[in-house]
Amino acid sequence: MAARRWNPATIADMLTTLENTHGKSRFIPRFDPMDELISCILSQHTTDAHSFPAFTQLRERYPTWQDVANAPAAEVASTVRLAGLSNQKAKNIIGSLQKINEQFGVFSLDALRTWPTDEAMIWLQTLPGVGPKTASIVLCFAMGRGTIPVDTHVFRVSWRLGLIKEEIGEVKAHGVLMKLVPRELAFPFHTLLIQHGRTVCRAPLPVCEKCGLAERCAWLKSDGPGKRQREMARTRKRSLKARRAKKGEVPGGSVND
Ligand code: SF4
Repeated sequence: MAARRWNPATIADMLTTLENTHGKSRFIPRFDPMDELISCILSQHTTDAHSFPAFTQLRERYPTWQDVANAPAAEVASTVRLAGLSNQKAKNIIGSLQKINEQFGVFSLDALRTWPTDEAMIWLQTLPGVGPKTASIVLCFAMGRGTIPVDTHVFRVSWRLGLIKEEIGEVKAHGVLMKLVPRELAFPFHTLLIQHGRTVCRAPLPVCEKCGLAERCAWLKSDGPGKRQREMARTRKRSLKARRAKKGEVPGGSVND
């Protein structure tokens, strides 16, 4: 259904609309692929404010990736504890480094630069703790490949517009969006949808009256924002009644009244 309504031309048109709202996105490589991979593992289930200091401490304590791979897991875990889930993350980092060294004979992902994107995407996901989002980030931000890291904003805006179905979830959304969005548009697609999700198509309620994509939006057409608003109002009313009943302000009051 989505594939019929959305095609390379309509995706390009949608991105032009988003560029007019949020400005053009510019690709600037962030890290070397190894740094990108490890910082991305550390960033899982936490914020940059916690994961960046953890990454800096890891780099300061161990001058090379080989040093990290050879270090005891408990020591690495205590070094990155700021990032949270540190035992699991330390295990995944050490496991990934060992597998990279086994595959390429060095602690480097540079060999992937010559691999086709789809093959590199699949191989990266064989590393412990690496799913489609982390693999996409490494390929997109460190190698400039046309992958689409799907975060909460990209996922929300995509399903609201009707590009994907909400039920498929973020993990499967990577594959579906990669088939739908032309590779040369993948980077602006990722960055502009994040911008749009942060500022206009926000959770839980979007600001549809400020959205240039309103005419194309499946969720708006099905009155999704209106239904969500009414549901939120009912929830607020129920919790207010429950609080009052608890305080004895509504004797015998039921939360279902
Ligand atoms: S119309 Fe509303 S729900 Fe649809 S994409 Fe725009 S802001 Fe999001």
